Amino acid sequence: MMEPVLTIVVPCYNEEEVLPETISQLQQLLKELINDTLVSKHSKILFVDDGSKDHTWEIIYKEGLRNEFVRGLKLAGNVGHQNALLAGLFAAKELSDCIISIDADLQDDIQVIREFILKFHEGCEIVYGVRKGRATDTFFKRSTAQGFYKMMKSLGVNLVYNHADFRLMSKRAVQELARFKEVNLFLRGIVPLLGFRSDVVYYDRLERQAGQTKYPLKKMLAFAFDGITSFSISPIRFVLVIGLVSFIMSLVFGGYFLTLKFLGNTETGWTSLITSIWLIGGLQLIAIGLIGEYVGKIYKETKQRPKYIVDIDSFNLPVPRRHLL
Ligand code: UDP
Ligand code: MG
Repeated sequence: MMEPVLTIVVPCYNEEEVLPETISQLQQLLKELINDTLVSKHSKILFVDDGSKDHTWEIIYKEGLRNEFVRGLKLAGNVGHQNALLAGLFAAKELSDCIISIDADLQDDIQVIREFILKFHEGCEIVYGVRKGRATDTFFKRSTAQGFYKMMKSLGVNLVYNHADFRLMSKRAVQELARFKEVNLFLRGIVPLLGFRSDVVYYDRLERQAGQTKYPLKKMLAFAFDGITSFSISPIRFVLVIGLVSFIMSLVFGGYFLTLKFLGNTETGWTSLITSIWLIGGLQLIAIGLIGEYVGKIYKETKQRPKYIVDIDSFNLPVPRRHLL
């Protein structure tokens, strides 16, 4: 059997501190995989520079000149981890038999890539890397992440628990993924939807090896919220139910206050009246806000903007032109 061509896609945003180490570790691993005839010698590591402001691209570019395993894809601007990852997957898909995505910061144990490949040889088209524990995460990140998974599950979205974007996908799976045209593509929700044969591999998540997290709390919350609203309309239904309940309640209270009025006790109604005004006003604002969220999504989707713009793609350049980079 011919060994499969593997491409490891690594999105990078301001990763100059950790990148040299990442390059050397990944290339070491790739060489071992090639030696063990697990993957083809044409396998590559594709670094996607997501519009970094530091020397990330220079590092990738220089390495690409002297290292046959390293290729670079430079995006014209910062489009975020998910879109940078997609850019890499789609650039690599024609020339690869399978693609593994991994973060640049070496938080994911690269040794399990070998297990990914073994599963691929067994016929799995998608292999999910799943963290055994979250000992290295802060208590806050751990509990919010757990809440997020629970919530998604209750909304009927099938996420692989404790799986981030460390996974293997076959060429076919990536080609199918490319048919999902929505602008806001939430990979962790979409990939299980593809329905191909899949398996999981467990690993220990380590500390970030160098540099700062590129996911501050604000981005994390936005990511979670996007995940929920692009997969489910349950929040809208929930608001509708609350609206109905409060409407019925207001009818009941209205009857009650009218009765009080006929009995001549009008001044006692003030407190409850002002409270319900605030209550209903608040509910309405929540409802409008939520609806606005979905309208905003529709607005974004109807524009059909490209998810990313490629500046330089050394992966798909014909060989003689690669040195021009
Ligand atoms: N990243 C990216 N674009 C961004 C933010 C992050 O490509 O706008 C990359 C980053 O370089 C890293 C990966 O996404 O390889 C995950 O980011 P990070 O490790 O900072 O997130 P965390 O592990 O803290 O959730
Ligand atoms: Mg990280």
